[in-house]
Amino acid sequence: MTIKKVMVIGAGQMGSGIAQVCAQAGYQVTLQDLKQEFLDRGLNTINKNLSRSVEKGRLIESEKEDILSRLTPSTDIQSAREVDLVIEAAVENMEIKTKIFAQLDEIAPSHTILATNTSSLPITEIAAATKRPEQVIGMHFMNPVPVMKLVEIIRGLATTDEVYQSIEDMTKTLSKVPVEVEDFPGFVSNRILMPMINEAIFTLYEGVASKEAIDEVMKLGMNHPMGPLTLADFIGLDTCLYIMETLHEGFGDDKYRPCPLLRKYVKAGWLGKKSGRGFYSYE
Ligand code: NAD
Repeated sequence: MTIKKVMVIGAGQMGSGIAQVCAQAGYQVTLQDLKQEFLDRGLNTINKNLSRSVEKGRLIESEKEDILSRLTPSTDIQSAREVDLVIEAAVENMEIKTKIFAQLDEIAPSHTILATNTSSLPITEIAAATKRPEQVIGMHFMNPVPVMKLVEIIRGLATTDEVYQSIEDMTKTLSKVPVEVEDFPGFVSNRILMPMINEAIFTLYEGVASKEAIDEVMKLGMNHPMGPLTLADFIGLDTCLYIMETLHEGFGDDKYRPCPLLRKYVKAGWLGKKSGRGFYSYE
């Protein structure tokens, strides 16, 4: 199937990045969110990223303008009427995602593939909210999307080989590397990464070391480019909590219980970089 028009749902950290790389690859992109202010914030981020690329000589000004001209903001989910692929990147919450997918199923043409960028929720359950589960698939981009090469491609129970192939091919057109993964909680990336981050938070909670010390040990000792608490702030502490809850519920194993300190920060609205404060403070 030829994909020309893409819709990205959610103009947050991930959605804006996904919309950017799709527009850069030449797709016509509709970026949808609930309010104009969220779209403005997402488009502003894209604009800044592209301006940085121009400054660094990776793009010329006219290419930047072309990329921006391929992006159409929308607060109306009905825009799904005109697209070949929807990539949903709204918040990590099953109720919200199934509601969006049920709506998309009613609105989008019959050929349209419905993908989700969920970090951990079952693709099969999201697909079951539609009458086209064979055309529902996971496309799990990494943060920050314009920089990170990996996309985990997750097959739901009913996803057809044809749909899988179209999405694998499309991912390559974004200059990303697709890796095939089966539909189990956290897939591969977050099943391994999130328990490590949660353990780092427990280490802080139990007073084993300061946040700076924990991050330094993992950076210098394990050669990680950033420490786990800094990484948690970048991912978003609300997203980290949702993922731990999904692993905990999905496997029914207490080794995945979210650290109480993580819950406390999320309840306080300390969500990391995006809210200005998490384990560290940001401007
Ligand atoms: P975010 O909070 O930055 O952005 C979410 C956006 O979705 C917000 O702008 C919000 O207004 C919008 N939204 C919420 N409900 C909506 C609806 N019904 N319709 C349209 N828009 C809606 O979150 P994020 O970090 O971009 O995460 C988005 C998704 O990507 C989540 O499923 C998350 O698990 C996944 N993800 C996140 C990361 C990460 O590092 N943050 C990495 C990979 C995948």
